[in-house]
Amino acid sequence: MRLLLVEDDRMIGDSLRQALRLEGHAVDWVYDAAAATSALASERFDLLLLDLGLPDAPGAATRPDGGLAVLRALRGRGDTTPVIVLTARDALGDRVAGLDAGADDYLVKPFDLDELTARMRAVMRRHGGRASTVLEHAGVRLDPATREVSKDGLPVLLSAREFAVLEALMQRPGAVLSRAQLEDRLYGWGEAVESNAVSVYVHQLRKKLGADVIQSMRGVGYFMSRT
Ligand code: CA
Repeated sequence: MRLLLVEDDRMIGDSLRQALRLEGHAVDWVYDAAAATSALASERFDLLLLDLGLPDAPGAATRPDGGLAVLRALRGRGDTTPVIVLTARDALGDRVAGLDAGADDYLVKPFDLDELTARMRAVMRRHGGRASTVLEHAGVRLDPATREVSKDGLPVLLSAREFAVLEALMQRPGAVLSRAQLEDRLYGWGEAVESNAVSVYVHQLRKKLGADVIQSMRGVGYFMSRT
């Protein structure tokens, strides 16, 4: 998934970004409300992780509800990007304010990475309207929770990035995703995009899952086999 992380605490942000990248997500990280708002206006993210106590702009003082303004602006323009609020404060009023402003879930710091990733999966599942987290299509079964993949019942080992490409394609079976859309799922800002990376991962996936599982539409992109 492509994630926007909004967190002004450099240590927390850095460790979260590293951990989420290891899980195969593309993570863009900004430190203040203004940068978050401009990122959200110019790019599409699968999920927003939003700290509540944020400065409005670089160098400004941290405001306890700086993140709420970002959330209200996002929902105010009809953007339904899933949002998980991260907050150091556990007062009931803050939770209610976050949820009222349109957050899908919230986590109180400090939290375990496992809990965050479980909440992320639950939010994405609700957002996609799916009852089960497991994705199944064309004989391929992908479980985002355990990161296990099988083809016709036999386990298949994938790298984190192969997994990310397959997950993106399986979330919308039959829909064509362009190379640029797939690169967006693999790389955050400032990460060098290896040329041909997407074709290399698709090639590996075809070797592991069968040549016909992922189809190409020349000049357009890739899609899961429709049968
Ligand atoms: Ca903060």
